[in-house]
Amino acid sequence: MTLTAVSKTQAPEAIDAILAAGQRAFGENRVQEAQARWTARRPGLGSLELRLIGPLQTNKAEDAVALFDVVETLDREKLARALADAAHKLGRAPRVLVQVNTGAEPQKAGVLPEAADALIAAARDGYGLKIEGLMCIPPAEEEPTPHFTLLGQIAARNGLSVLSMGMSGDYETAIRCGATHVRVGTALFGERIRP
Ligand SMILES: *Cc1c(COP(=O)(O)O)cnc(C)c1O
Repeated sequence: MTLTAVSKTQAPEAIDAILAAGQRAFGENRVQEAQARWTARRPGLGSLELRLIGPLQTNKAEDAVALFDVVETLDREKLARALADAAHKLGRAPRVLVQVNTGAEPQKAGVLPEAADALIAAARDGYGLKIEGLMCIPPAEEEPTPHFTLLGQIAARNGLSVLSMGMSGDYETAIRCGATHVRVGTALFGERIRP
């Protein structure tokens, strides 16, 4: 089980403190903010793993591939193509998770559960992306267990082993449901500086 420390909007001192404690996997939800935070810090942090956990626009795909080791938010074929093109151009291929909108919430990113198998196949077989697993953010007001269970079922039937699920409020439930990665921000750092 891997703890991804969600460092978005956190103060430099807080990040330095958790780095000093040995944490090496970090999640960021915006490409430019992550570039500003990590480009200068990265040299010397050999085993640092940066994970993009926020929505990605195709015009930022190249910047994302240049910076991130893992992109957790693939949710459409157009983005699969942009990531594949960027990987080809930069000679650097991120590992990729497909984000599934398990609650089919209109305002939320992620492929719908019924379209996930086709996107996984297209990304893996059509575009040659390194699809490792799935990610989800359950609806805020719902019991998360059915969402985590559904994510696990989609992963299993597609032969995927990585499940990024669980945040500060529900990571214990997510671990019980088989999470391999939990993304924890406020429970680790305290409240974010900016909402
Ligand atoms: C901000 C964020 C988190 C962390 O949320 P906390 O509730 O602070 O732990 C996890 N996942 C994603 C996708 C996020 O944007």
